[in-house]
Amino acid sequence: MANPSLLILPGDGIGPEVMQEVRRVITWFSEKRGLAFDITEDLVGGAAYDAHGTPLHDDTMAKALDVDAVLLGAVGGPKYDNLDFSVKPERGLLRLRKEMDLFSNLRPAQCFDALADFSSLKTELVSGLDIMIVRELTSGVYFGEPRGIFEEGNERVGINTQRYTESEIDRVARSAFELARRRSGKVCSMEKANVMESGILWREVVQKVHDEDYPDVELSHMYADNGAMQLVRAPKQFDVILTDNLFGDILSDCAAMLTGSLGMLPSASLGAPNADGRPKALYEPVHGSAPDITGQGKANPIACILSFAMALRYSFDQGDEATRLETAIEKVLADGARTADLMGEAGGTPISTTQMSDAILSA
Ligand code: ATP
Ligand code: MG
Repeated sequence: MANPSLLILPGDGIGPEVMQEVRRVITWFSEKRGLAFDITEDLVGGAAYDAHGTPLHDDTMAKALDVDAVLLGAVGGPKYDNLDFSVKPERGLLRLRKEMDLFSNLRPAQCFDALADFSSLKTELVSGLDIMIVRELTSGVYFGEPRGIFEEGNERVGINTQRYTESEIDRVARSAFELARRRSGKVCSMEKANVMESGILWREVVQKVHDEDYPDVELSHMYADNGAMQLVRAPKQFDVILTDNLFGDILSDCAAMLTGSLGMLPSASLGAPNADGRPKALYEPVHGSAPDITGQGKANPIACILSFAMALRYSFDQGDEATRLETAIEKVLADGARTADLMGEAGGTPISTTQMSDAILSA
């Protein structure tokens, strides 16, 4: 059987710096654990623009559609700020999401105990925290028509439309329930069915998918505003949170602050299943290209390494190996390894990007 295939797109800024460390991790897994991957590497974002005049070449797009998983670093940077909108680095990422039809965005908010004092909340509220936000990524108010700024009488009006079809809700709900089955078996769905029609339909469809196909999963519904409050009041009550594009954008940033640094947060975006039943998938750290620290060896590689751990778990059926990697990260943090972003007020001498992955590999 062919090895699983992986397309690596390091991108811009600290993207290539953290991806270099991920490549070492992948090599470790192939040498020590016998996990071989067919790896292709290509350009995305500003790097692709510099080489081809487009933030995503058609050949790269074709490769992305062909592989088992895509691993992306980050795109963008000040150098590209004045480019025309149609060739901005971010457009490369948007095209990948669109053409791979990545409708389900998974963002874990997991608190490593060694970093619990980094949280915006008290340690006891976040210690052991492990939640997963499933955000609908390809529809809703960011894409609904009509949209635009129009003339109305003697003034202008800005319009966006929140729009969800039953099938769009159905498929993202299924991905949340599938995920819950691999975790604690609990989903909380968040919308505003009290004031929005799309929210009423959302609640109805999620309940129906549950009753018909996932009765074993515990389902609750919550208004998103209450959800935001509960998330900062008592986050450990949640396991999987299922929500739409707009609320998911806000709630996942909110959940991110429960865990501390941006340099720690991975994400996965999943699409429809391929012929082999596995979803199309793109894995990337939540952070951006971080131009302020690019080229200084300061970037924390953990978010990108944890994104590879998610790939092991969700695309390659290697949950145990993913846990092995996560456990190593937990251990080095407990031992006190800190890149600059994890230093906090206590001070001390930070280690470099490469030293952090050295520590993870030896653990
Ligand atoms: P984007 O628009 O691409 O999301 P952004 O400006 O919102 O980018 P980032 O590029 O993620 O945000 O950077 C935000 C801040 O967090 C910066 O000060 C950056 O240095 C820091 N940061 C981001 N990622 C890391 C990392 N992996 N390690 C250390 N610091 C990081
Ligand atoms: Mg940002």
